[in-house]
Amino acid sequence: MSGEFPICSDPFKAHGALAAAAPSPEVSQLRSQLALLQAENEALKQELAALKAASAAAGGAAATAIPAAPAPEASSAGAGAALVRPRPLPSNLQDIAALAALPAADVELQDSVRVAVERDTRTLHVVHITAELAPIGKVGGLGDVVSGLSKACIARGHAVSVIMPFYESLDQKQIEGLKHEMDIDVPKGYVWDGEMRVGALRTSVFQGRVAGVPVYLLRPTDWGACNIFKGGAIYRGSYDEREAYLYMCRASLEFLKCSQQQPHIIQVHDWHAAAVPLLYWEVSLALQLVIGCAEPRVEAAGGEARLGLPGPTAAVPLPLPLPLLLALALALLTMQLPLPLLLAPSAAADYAYHAEGLWRPRIVLTIHNLDNTGEVRQDEFAFTGLPGEQFAQLDKALDERTIGHNPERLNLMKGGVVYSNAVTTVSPTYASDIVNAGAGGFLRPVFNQEHIKLKFSGILNGVDAEDWDPSRDPLLPANYSADLPAGKALCKAFLQQGLGLAVDPRKPLIAVVSRLVGQKNPGLMLAAALRAKETGAQFVLLGSGGQDAGLKRLAEGELKDHPDVRILIMYSERLSHMIYAAADYVLVPSNFEPCGLTQLIAMRYGALPVVRRTGGLADTVRDLDAWQGPGAANGFTFDGADAGSLYTALDRAVALYRTQPQRWQQVSQQNMRADVSWALPAKEYVALYNSIAQF
Ligand code: ADP
Repeated sequence: MSGEFPICSDPFKAHGALAAAAPSPEVSQLRSQLALLQAENEALKQELAALKAASAAAGGAAATAIPAAPAPEASSAGAGAALVRPRPLPSNLQDIAALAALPAADVELQDSVRVAVERDTRTLHVVHITAELAPIGKVGGLGDVVSGLSKACIARGHAVSVIMPFYESLDQKQIEGLKHEMDIDVPKGYVWDGEMRVGALRTSVFQGRVAGVPVYLLRPTDWGACNIFKGGAIYRGSYDEREAYLYMCRASLEFLKCSQQQPHIIQVHDWHAAAVPLLYWEVSLALQLVIGCAEPRVEAAGGEARLGLPGPTAAVPLPLPLPLLLALALALLTMQLPLPLLLAPSAAADYAYHAEGLWRPRIVLTIHNLDNTGEVRQDEFAFTGLPGEQFAQLDKALDERTIGHNPERLNLMKGGVVYSNAVTTVSPTYASDIVNAGAGGFLRPVFNQEHIKLKFSGILNGVDAEDWDPSRDPLLPANYSADLPAGKALCKAFLQQGLGLAVDPRKPLIAVVSRLVGQKNPGLMLAAALRAKETGAQFVLLGSGGQDAGLKRLAEGELKDHPDVRILIMYSERLSHMIYAAADYVLVPSNFEPCGLTQLIAMRYGALPVVRRTGGLADTVRDLDAWQGPGAANGFTFDGADAGSLYTALDRAVALYRTQPQRWQQVSQQNMRADVSWALPAKEYVALYNSIAQF
């Protein structure tokens, strides 16, 4: 997470909804209403506990007779008597945070999508290597996925841990038991007198737990002497990303070796970690560093001390005796080694990770997004401590687009795919689009080869059902669920008032929570804001990223202080929860979308998704007016990437809310009941792990 509300851009303050810092009479009134609600919930819980005890005593026969907690009042959807809409809202966000921790009335009763966790009989050891992990270091869906998948696999009985950078910007408050684990020497290239040399970078490994997931955090020991992973935000820090992530790849493998871990699976995520399989299969004993020497040097078979010379494959002939060759051939056949290794005779025999004990892992590369594929110069690859030249072949990591250039470059995502035992993408449609259609871009011919195609599978992302659960989300002013949906209307009023919008339950609230980058189509978000205004709906956008200029102009110009539109250019985990809970619709107009989590979170929070039919959005959203296949229709879709196409879906959504509120309510509740958790995806991942693991 790269930060909560910066004080200066607190949207509740910014819109003058509330001024004073000290609690106003209204805040006090709200507090007493909430205290009342808490007391009621407490009483209900006790009543429930007593009923459960009675039912247990009676052999469980009374289980179905437990009465549901009464539905709150003051919403278009509810009919209970307990809850009064807070009006007006607290004077600043600190107040909201303090008041937000309402108890969920009874989660066991209410949470109708809770899925029984299956346990697997065979325990796997899985290590993720990633640039992001929610909530401590998240920019987008990558962080959510690593966290959600890890937790789900742990729940199934597997031993899962995560290796990631120790960013200066990490939210350390959310790491339990953070402690120093060990220091190791990591081979790393650096520029010395205009040339790339290799030395050893002393690296510290820290350990802790994040929401129950064991995490190892890596950073240079002497942080004063280098800026890797420093700065106030992930990806926008003061360090060179290529250098930092190539170093992370090598440091992760060195740590696994030094700590004598022997995972069945190493799962690497996106380009940041894509060099891991290249290193794992190709680091050669013939080119081992002499660690700790005052003058950094490389000991190569030919006595050559500089990088930029032929790599181990070319430099070291392999005079192996016949029995060893036969044994090796057998090992290769049973180990499912990736193709390049089979082609590179020197590497299999003496590559360091195998020879030094790290023999078991098989590698899964997960492609979350091909927007960035990790292009590096061959000499830059030496930030891993290994020369890049040995990968500069068509069947390895050479970037075809640069053939004939000086120098030719490497592509890490291509190399990662070639060297991994299995490749996953985050939805079946995106997998197919990468391999067979345009989404693979210049890499499509590589991915489309028969032996590479076979490695691909698409496994749809899930949503972390604990983090995203309206029935117990502590960031909401009121909790709700499919069975007790009334609190959602209260969340809407709370947000409308807090953001200075007209408080009107009849206006459909369309929300966007997104990175503002080309992929996400900020132009259509802008068109949606204007359309919402025209049609008397409301529009709230929470977004940050490079392509925010048009939206910023709108927010500060034509739509400044508009009663129906609020555009917030910022990142805030907390506000995102409030927006999902308040929204009637969540719009995702992406140009392309590998999976997309926001439409799934929207469903979990009872908002209907309105999406462009591409990638994972096509796999998860079924149009209420057009869907004829299996599964219930759950939102609105459009095909074109232009404003006209967007309106065909947006206008239908607005009309549904206005003219058929009961239908909207029914779909909202159905969406909350849908299983979008990690239960099924985790099962699919475990099946994949088992299909390639060595035991
Ligand atoms: P991507 O990974 O391409 O950004 P996803 O839909 O897979 O898109 O995941 C986006 C995740 O990031 C969601 O959890 C969403 O709520 C969150 N997110 C995106 N932008 C913001 C923001 N400005 N503030 C808070 N959360 C955000």
